[in-house]
Amino acid sequence: MIGLVAVTASGRAASSALAAAWGDEAVRRYAEDGVSAGDALRTAYAECDAVVSFLAVGATVRVLAPALRDKHEDPAVVCVDEARQFAVSVLGGHNGANELAQRVAEVLDCVPVITTASDASGITPLDSFGGDLGFVLENPQRLAAVGAQILSGEPTMVFGAERWPLPALPPNVTPTQNPVEADIVISDELVDMSDTALVYRPASLVIGVGASRGVSAQEVLDTIDAALAAGGLSAGSVLRLASLDLKADEAGLLEAARSRRWPVEFHAAADLAAVEVPNPSPVVAAETGTSSVAEAAARYTGPTRPLADLTVYKIKSPMATAAVARVRPRGRLAVIGLGPGARDLLAPRAVKELRRASVVVGLDQYVEQIRDLLRPGTQIRATALGAEEERARSAVELARTGLAVALIGSGDAGVYAMASPALDHADADDVDVVCVPGITAATAASNVLGAALGHDHCSISLSDLHTPWQAIERRIRAAAEGDFVVSFYNPRSRQRDWQLGKALGILAAHRPGSTPVGWVRNASRPDESWGLTTLDTFDPVVVDMYTVVTVGCSQSRIVGGRFVTPRGYTWAQ
Ligand code: SAH
Repeated sequence: MIGLVAVTASGRAASSALAAAWGDEAVRRYAEDGVSAGDALRTAYAECDAVVSFLAVGATVRVLAPALRDKHEDPAVVCVDEARQFAVSVLGGHNGANELAQRVAEVLDCVPVITTASDASGITPLDSFGGDLGFVLENPQRLAAVGAQILSGEPTMVFGAERWPLPALPPNVTPTQNPVEADIVISDELVDMSDTALVYRPASLVIGVGASRGVSAQEVLDTIDAALAAGGLSAGSVLRLASLDLKADEAGLLEAARSRRWPVEFHAAADLAAVEVPNPSPVVAAETGTSSVAEAAARYTGPTRPLADLTVYKIKSPMATAAVARVRPRGRLAVIGLGPGARDLLAPRAVKELRRASVVVGLDQYVEQIRDLLRPGTQIRATALGAEEERARSAVELARTGLAVALIGSGDAGVYAMASPALDHADADDVDVVCVPGITAATAASNVLGAALGHDHCSISLSDLHTPWQAIERRIRAAAEGDFVVSFYNPRSRQRDWQLGKALGILAAHRPGSTPVGWVRNASRPDESWGLTTLDTFDPVVVDMYTVVTVGCSQSRIVGGRFVTPRGYTWAQ
């Protein structure tokens, strides 16, 4: 819930604009009914996860100062000035305020002001590891010192970085194999380390638990702690407990999980029976239908994912058993469409994913398009035109080694581009895949031309490098027959100069010569150009590989110099 605190007319108007943009259920409005500004702000701060204050920064800070506790838990606070020029992230920058300032700025059309050092300099903020990567920061009091060390460019060593798909780290941050000399330790093991190291615990351990009826929570916890100690493992890295579904109502087990705030999962005996374990027991098999509970439940990660590696074999107490398995970290492949070219047509989610990656793979011209957005330290694998399949495969291979990889493409990466060859190779279950849509050339062009795609439409690529011309021609005939508006991608190049003329001829046999034909070259790029004419008069020589050509259906018209395809199904006789 976001609290909006406004006392002036201008503040109230801005507050209404935010409520309208985000929906009334997402916000709660304060101080509009005669309560004092200070009281309203205090109440909003106590009741909400985030607050937008239409009071001065100074006033806001003075009112809230006594209530400030912990920067990781306090509500985020953004202040907007009376003239609606700035949305200032004031408190909890990495706890949502920086993002909220940006969201407010988008709605109110003002400038977001972000002053947290790492965001201002573009370096991956260390405390984002918690939220984004699911790591638990064991000693937050060290964060400021290590953060300052990184920002000031001093050499900083990380232990364990290569095991996890981290975002890019700046060049002064380098990996080390020796935890004792590390400034940052990322590990689920209780390794020896210096007193000053910043310690992150990745959520990587699954504890399989077996329990006899009536076991106490204390005995379950003692057995788990003994298993963790046997493996030299940190309780801060426990991802969840797991057991057999027969134990789903075992009070001691549930209480043990609750007391440490660990989630607990229960699995069917048939699933556990199929898991290979070192210490199967025929007695347990006769009782439950699986020869192992603790070891099998620790390893089992669901029907599609690979089994976790058993790190601590079963440990027994009179009424409980515990075993520990480590979930293999998965690499991350983000397939990102960059849109047609203009920066403001690039989705915010694409920006977020670009800044989440440590390696970016793509054609050099597309890398240039977004290079300034990348975090310092991002590795770039730019390649020249051609070898698409190779590029897609190398992105998947990199992700498979555990890295966070962004594979970029223009427009939408799933449209005549890299997503399909990449996902063809990414079927292995060791990579997480995220796809971010982009504005594809057909819609970018349609919007330059007017409303060309107002009714049923299709896209056809005229590139016969990957597809035999007969297949392309068959689709053009079908589109002609079906009276679809058609966007032609890859319409014409120096080597392929006859296909577009042929395609237009096929369409012309089924629709009037007055049918609009629009072409847009480099849509939304600085040298954008376009033209609008009819099938009768269109000359394909203006077209090259940077162009999309859109041909109307029989109902499309040129209205006021714009390409319009009407919406209704009222067909001309
Ligand atoms: N994935 C891209 C398409 C790649 S195929 C997308 O979704 O847009 C390459 C073809 O797309 C080019 O030959 C051209 O026909 C078209 N194209 C891509 N970007 C364009 C732009 N900005 N303006 C016009 N056409 C474009």
